[in-house]
Amino acid sequence: MDFLNKLSNIASETYKKTSKKTGELAKEAKIRMKMNEDKGSIKDLYEEIGKIVYQKYVKNEDLSIKDDLNSYCSQIDELSNKIEKALDELLSLKGKRICQNCHEEIESNVKYCPSCGAEQADIIEKVEDKDDGKELQEIEIVEDDKENKEE
Ligand SMILES: [Zn+2]
Repeated sequence: MDFLNKLSNIASETYKKTSKKTGELAKEAKIRMKMNEDKGSIKDLYEEIGKIVYQKYVKNEDLSIKDDLNSYCSQIDELSNKIEKALDELLSLKGKRICQNCHEEIESNVKYCPSCGAEQADIIEKVEDKDDGKELQEIEIVEDDKENKEE
């Protein structure tokens, strides 16, 4: 999963380099928290797949991908997409985005990637509008309450 590792490096870089208002940092933290959750879920799914494959090996069964593995794999795909969207949002906080073709970090306002030249379609700017954004908003409310009490 070199692609995910690369994205995750970009994300931590994004986090380190930023020194901005608390609100923006809190927003980043929430996105990153959700992202780490998704990464954890992917890891669990890998483990499950590994277990299934090993059990098949022990029983001397065919190791081809069957329906049960397909379901695990599509869950991983889905989580990977969520992580990618979260990273897009993290980058957009600092005016950047990931090239849809070569996955390099580029300025969000460019129409063509300086690295590979691919034309950039408009990326979903607000994850909050999507279904998986609801969870982010819920987290936000909880954390805002906490902040208010501390003040
Ligand atoms: Zn590119």
